[in-house]
Amino acid sequence: MSFEVSLTGREQELVDIARAFTAAEITPNAGTWEHERIYPRDTQLAAAAAGLGGVLVPKEDGGEDVSHTGACRIFEELASGCMPFTFSMVVHNNFANSLARNGTAQQKQKFLPDLIACRKIGAFLLTEPGMGSDAQAVSCMARPDGDGWVLDGEKAWISSASHAGVLSIYAQTDPEKGWRGIMCFVIEAERDGVHRVGPYAMAGGHALGTGGFRFEGVRLTRDDVLLEQEAAFKGAMGGIDSARFFVGAMCTGMVNAALTRSLEYVATRPAFGQTVGDFQGIQWMLADVATDIEAMRLLTYSAADTWDKGGNASMAAAHAKKFATRAALTRLTDCMQVMGANGFKIDEVAARHFSSAKMCQFMDGTTEIQNVVIARGLQKQARG
Ligand SMILES: Cc1cc2nc3c(=O)[nH]c(=O)nc-3n(C[C@H](O)[C@H](O)[C@H](O)COP(=O)(O)OP(=O)(O)OC[C@H]3O[C@@H](n4cnc5c(N)ncnc54)[C@H](O)[C@@H]3O)c2cc1C
Repeated sequence: MSFEVSLTGREQELVDIARAFTAAEITPNAGTWEHERIYPRDTQLAAAAAGLGGVLVPKEDGGEDVSHTGACRIFEELASGCMPFTFSMVVHNNFANSLARNGTAQQKQKFLPDLIACRKIGAFLLTEPGMGSDAQAVSCMARPDGDGWVLDGEKAWISSASHAGVLSIYAQTDPEKGWRGIMCFVIEAERDGVHRVGPYAMAGGHALGTGGFRFEGVRLTRDDVLLEQEAAFKGAMGGIDSARFFVGAMCTGMVNAALTRSLEYVATRPAFGQTVGDFQGIQWMLADVATDIEAMRLLTYSAADTWDKGGNASMAAAHAKKFATRAALTRLTDCMQVMGANGFKIDEVAARHFSSAKMCQFMDGTTEIQNVVIARGLQKQARG
């Protein structure tokens, strides 16, 4: 890597652990997870045992308290082996961090030790079958009832839905208030009235266990409230900025792994009395891949750095996610192209990452929504 971020000693240690873990536990198994549609529970437990289950959680709550820049480097390493597995860990780590920072002492005691050890996996439930980009149009209803609420409705496109043990659920408690009426509840997935939907069959990325939840008369109490009215929607949108540059980091890891493999392949593949890598056309294609990796890294780590310094990272995160997901899709096809037909085999790293790169263009806001964020930011700047 020619661009390196500055990390603390412990952060660098965790990046090294993530790199070794990827080589030993993720890359050799990622193809099987995809072919057999396996959600790798055991690998999540092993990742937690290696220290990767609560990287953002404060030290006093049992976590590693790494910066978002440090977390990006960890997720970049893991995603070079398998992006869907990594995304399950990204959502889980974000969840544990949010619980540590917003939860009551009782909620932290109840859930955090199991989350940090990955004995239970966390899921973030905002999207619904009838709503994605327009997140304030939540239609899952938590109807006030005595001291608590009764929850009905459905959530869709939830990472780790197949196995999650703890759920943060965004539900409308007062439709007249619009987004201000949305609250966030944290409950165990085994509560009466909670039903899993799926997992979905997708174009790829099955290690993520993506699916939904249906709620039928689920009783919620005050103890289940994670974020109150107004704070819940603001919290969800605030967290999305960091999720966006984490996607940038994962894309960087995927394309870098594909470039490494393509360089190795073209150096030995014979054609017309030389190697494929001797053709300037092939060299230039890979040079363009390398240029985009540099740009993905700079945008991603600049957004993470802005966040870590307490700045407003919204526009930087949107630029990073938009560019990195577009570049990943284009450059992974280039990495496949230089390998000829062999690059199209699903066991080849670029081919396997290809569907994951497309997946990245939906999660945490589509490419078009990044443009909405950027355009709004530009207009605000122009108004002064
Ligand atoms: C693999 C995967 C995992 C996911 N994990 C989670 C999760 O854990 N939790 C969760 O809550 N959600 C999750 N999501 C859902 C994700 O956040 C939504 O897919 C995303 O917000 C887009 O919503 P949508 O798919 O309903 O698209 P829609 O909102 O229906 O959009 C359809 C199209 O219209 C475009 N569009 C919409 N609004 C505008 C606009 N204002 N201007 C221009 N174009 C627009 C979109 O860009 C898109 O191209 C996941 C999605 C995927 C694919």
